[in-house]
Amino acid sequence: MKLFTVGPVEMHPGTLAVAGRQLPYFRTDEFSRTVNECDAMMRTLTGAPAGSRTVLLTASGTGAMEMAVTSCIPRSGKALVIDGGSFGARFCEICETVGIAYDRIRLEPGKSLDPAVLDGRDLSGYRALLLNAHETSTGVLYDLPAIGRRCRESGMLFIVDAISAFLCDEIDMAAMNIDLLITSSQKALALEPGLSLLVYAPAALEAAAEVPAVSCYFNLSSYLSNAERGQTPFTPAVGIVLQLHERLKTLVAAGLAAQVKRTAGLAQHFRRQLAGLPFRIFSDHPSNALTALAPTDGTSAHDVYLRLKEEGLVVTPNGGALADRVFRVGHMGNITEHDLDELIRAMKGLS
Ligand SMILES: *Cc1c(COP(=O)(O)O)cnc(C)c1O
Repeated sequence: MKLFTVGPVEMHPGTLAVAGRQLPYFRTDEFSRTVNECDAMMRTLTGAPAGSRTVLLTASGTGAMEMAVTSCIPRSGKALVIDGGSFGARFCEICETVGIAYDRIRLEPGKSLDPAVLDGRDLSGYRALLLNAHETSTGVLYDLPAIGRRCRESGMLFIVDAISAFLCDEIDMAAMNIDLLITSSQKALALEPGLSLLVYAPAALEAAAEVPAVSCYFNLSSYLSNAERGQTPFTPAVGIVLQLHERLKTLVAAGLAAQVKRTAGLAQHFRRQLAGLPFRIFSDHPSNALTALAPTDGTSAHDVYLRLKEEGLVVTPNGGALADRVFRVGHMGNITEHDLDELIRAMKGLS
């Protein structure tokens, strides 16, 4: 079985070895040191500006999206959401559930946001722009530098869900004016699901200081005060924190650029071999993280997924309205060009 999914993905031997060990007790100086080192390595890999803080949250990525929204935007504030698919829609759902007003810029599936659209709007009433750096449901990577510049000019916080973009495409919080960046364990970090990370730049920390807590579990201020001693308010996913530490050490040693280059290389290798096959790349601005494909010969995308899975090759099916139109091939995690060649051979055998 080989995973070409978007999370969980194929894990690396180093983190699998950590996952096989007995867990330690965690209210200790040793564990605090591990957490502090994760904080520092995350700030390095995200290009976080001086004074940024990392929060470790035991929750799937959606939990971190909810914490990001509720920690920085008060109930009296308003958000602007870019909705290009199911993850953009999730930001809207979060705002609705917690009672934060929002406006939505809805994009056609597979289409990127033209940053000029923001120039034509009055942005003065918004506390924050909520954006998924990479809309994982369709494979669209947004123009972060251009959107970040508009956020800075208009005084909106730029809150970026980089859950599937981190380590795949270039991200630099300081250079792109990102005030709060979210990622989680099961995408390109290639760890077990269950741990999320939020990197707050000083502007987001300042904004959050004025926002009253609306949740006990997702109360940012208790995460920040506990983090001062390398701890979390509640029992963290101890095992995944240890996996994270192992993985971040490897990534920092090699450098972010090397990791992005590796993923870009896999994506290009895969896409080169699509010529002549009955599939069209669905996104008008594809990320390195995955290739979203639409069959052009009338085959159901979901059937393609099922038939490949029978051969032990697990691509990612889409849900909802795109279920029969689109499936996705992930380029994250411990996969090689050789694995992608095997998938291409199987795709050729389908017709
Ligand atoms: C995977 C993902 C999430 C998080 O989904 P969970 O199932 O809650 O982990 C959020 N946003 C994006 C863009 C993602 O790719």
